[in-house]
Order: sequence, then structure tokens, then C-alpha cells
Amino acid sequence: MPILRLAATIGAVVLLGLGNGASGAPVKVVLNYDSGGAGSFLSAIDTAATSDGLAANYFNADVAAIETGIQNELQRVYSGFNVTFTTTPDATARVASFGNPTDPNNFGVASFNWRNAFLPGTIAPANDAAAYADIYPANFGPSLSATATLAQNETSLEVAVGDTTAHELGHTFGLDHQDAYGDPKITPANYANTAGIQNTHIMASGATGLSNNRSTPRSFSQLEIAKLAQANNLYIAGGWTPNLIADAGPNHTQKTTVGANAAQALTLNYLPVAGESVVTVTSGSIGTGKDDVYSFTAAVGAPITADILAYSTTANSDGDPSSTPFFNTPANTTLSLWENNGGTPVLIASSNDKEYSGNTWISGTQTDNDPMILNQPAPATDTYYLDVYGVSAGNYEMFVSVPEPTALSLLAAGFVAMLIGRRLQRRSQI
Ligand SMILES: [Zn+2]
Repeated sequence: MPILRLAATIGAVVLLGLGNGASGAPVKVVLNYDSGGAGSFLSAIDTAATSDGLAANYFNADVAAIETGIQNELQRVYSGFNVTFTTTPDATARVASFGNPTDPNNFGVASFNWRNAFLPGTIAPANDAAAYADIYPANFGPSLSATATLAQNETSLEVAVGDTTAHELGHTFGLDHQDAYGDPKITPANYANTAGIQNTHIMASGATGLSNNRSTPRSFSQLEIAKLAQANNLYIAGGWTPNLIADAGPNHTQKTTVGANAAQALTLNYLPVAGESVVTVTSGSIGTGKDDVYSFTAAVGAPITADILAYSTTANSDGDPSSTPFFNTPANTTLSLWENNGGTPVLIASSNDKEYSGNTWISGTQTDNDPMILNQPAPATDTYYLDVYGVSAGNYEMFVSVPEPTALSLLAAGFVAMLIGRRLQRRSQI
């Protein structure tokens, strides 16, 4: 399965407001096919073909067309985002490589570059040359068939390799496998059996139940689109600037909107490309046994998502023994969602860790110390609280999104989810 390989941790974490704002410069991705010779893209796809009993030089005559087809597939997947693809070498650009030695177990690996702003354990702004994606075309035999025509196999290969490249590049923009479940059709009603909805999306992997035959085209989920738009430099349509709000410090500990230590109000900005309102809390810092409480408003029926990033994939069974925590001192947290309910907050949902596997969400073999609340419907139009509780002290970030409920879709143009800064007395706490 594709895995996420994290870069080595370097330096101490100093939490700054990095990456806030989009420039007009597109992110350039160089597709390095290194065609020709041993270990090249061409030899790799011929290896995939021979694994299905096809001729040793099966793809030789059409390698250029396949390379163009992969580039076209990438442009389809990333349409609407500020990413350009080229085969012209550029030492300063991000590179997707297809000619590396065969990985015996995986379709690809990539560095994780959260918000396209910084690599794990670093405070360095996005470094295109340091973010990498490797794809192993020799392992795509399951996407080919000895009974298919050459043209059919070429199309299958272009989709399979193209969408896997989009997936690995997604890691380099800050996406992870659980984001594939961020589809408005996955709610608490079908957590136990999602019917494979997550596998129609780019960040699906073997862990989410995606078949080794990757020849069915996929696209970004609503959550994946929203996170991409929050990534540094990646989306500029309509003048969008990533909506980043820094943790206000240690004193917003109460599930109230007024009074001492009231919740920190968040303003979610409406993002048309995703059809939802979003914010990312940056520079999060929590003490052991302490709470950071954030408030916002949501309309009845709106499915609320909140995703903590601290450990990231450390404990994710992604097959990579070299994974490191996202932060040098990652906070181990729990996350709970509360409705204000007239000043007597009631618990709506809580999470200790991410858990998923195949068609199940909240249970399964894939685990992550970071909690996540996924598409939890708001029971009423009200103020809501997200309570980040420190099981152990450390740093975190939190992505929050509130998709537009269908009933309010006609109001989308004017909809902005607001978080309220009024203060109330503390009512309850986990
Ligand atoms: Zn992956």
C-alpha cells in the first residue's frame, strides 16, 4: 500500500504563524520519468506488465504517451488548485520520481508537509525541494490485465499511476489517509459500514480498503479539498487566503462565551470550492490535565469535523518504521464537541484517537494518537465548543470544517460560520 514516510526530525519546534497567506506563485511539480535504461519508468512499467504475463517490452512503443496521460490525470485531479506539472527539470521544484528502485511493498512514499507550510519537527517554511514523492510503477501489475487491450492497459496505468502520484503529492501538501473519509455521505449513521465511499477519494489507501487495482479514477473528497485550500500557496481562486488562527494561550479553558477564561472564538471562513467553512488553529500548546476550549456557531444539521494534528502518523500502521511525531513534543489529546444548549453545554461527540479500517470509522486497525471528530451533525443552530484536553503536554494544530447543510445550500453565498466571543460561566468540563 502507499505509505507516508516522514522526514527526519530536526531542530526544536518553535511555533510561529507560518504559511499564513497565499502568494500568486504556483507550486511547480516536476515529473521525473527518467525514461530509458535500468531502473527507469519504462523498465518499471514493463516489469509491471510482465508480472501479468504480458510481453517483456509491452509498453516500449508508447511510453511517451503514457507519461503524457499521467500528467493529464494529475492536472484533472488538481484542477482548481495552484499546481503546475512539468517534465522540465528544476532543482528548486518539488519532484515526483518514477525511476527509483522498486519498493517491494508499496506503490509510493512521500514526505508529509503539513499545510504545505512545514515538515515534521521543523519550523522551516515549505521547501519544495525538500518535499518529495516517490512512485513505484513496477508494483502496478494489479491494475493491468493480460486479457485487456494495449490501449485499455495504458489507460489503466495512466489512472493508477496518476492518482497514486496525486495521493503522494497530497501528503506533501498536508493530507493524510483519514481525509479520504471526509465525505459528507459518511456520518455517524454509517460509521460501521461506509460502503467504500472513502475509496473514491485520492487519499484512500490499502488501510482504507482500496483495492490493489488502482485503475478506477478517484477525486478529492470535500475534506481533502478544504485542507488543500488551507495549504500554503495552493489555492488562490477568489483571493482565498488560508484561514489560520493561533491558539490564544493557556487561559481559554471554559465552555462558555463570556466570563473569565471563556472559550476562544473562532471565525470560520466560507470556502466555495469545498462548500464549507473552515479554520485551522495553529501554534496550539496544551498542558497536562488542561483544556483549550474553542467556540463557533453551526446551523442545525451541519456536519462538524475537527482533526487534531500532533502525532500525526506516528502510531498509524502505515508500514513505515521511520515515522516521527509531527511535533517534537506532540500533545496527546482528547477532543470533545459540545453544544452550548442555553448555557448548559451538552456533549455531542468525543474522540480519544483516530481509528479506522476499510469500511469502518471509529474502529479498526489503523490508529493514531490524535483524535478526530468526523461529520458530526449539529443537533441545533447554536454555539458549539471544541474542548482539546491535554492527556500529556505538548503542541498541536487543529483543522475545523463545517460543511453547508443541504437545507441551507441556497444561502451558501452569504453563509459565514461565526464564532462568538461573549463570555459565560463555566458549566462543565471533561
Ligand atoms: Zn499514503
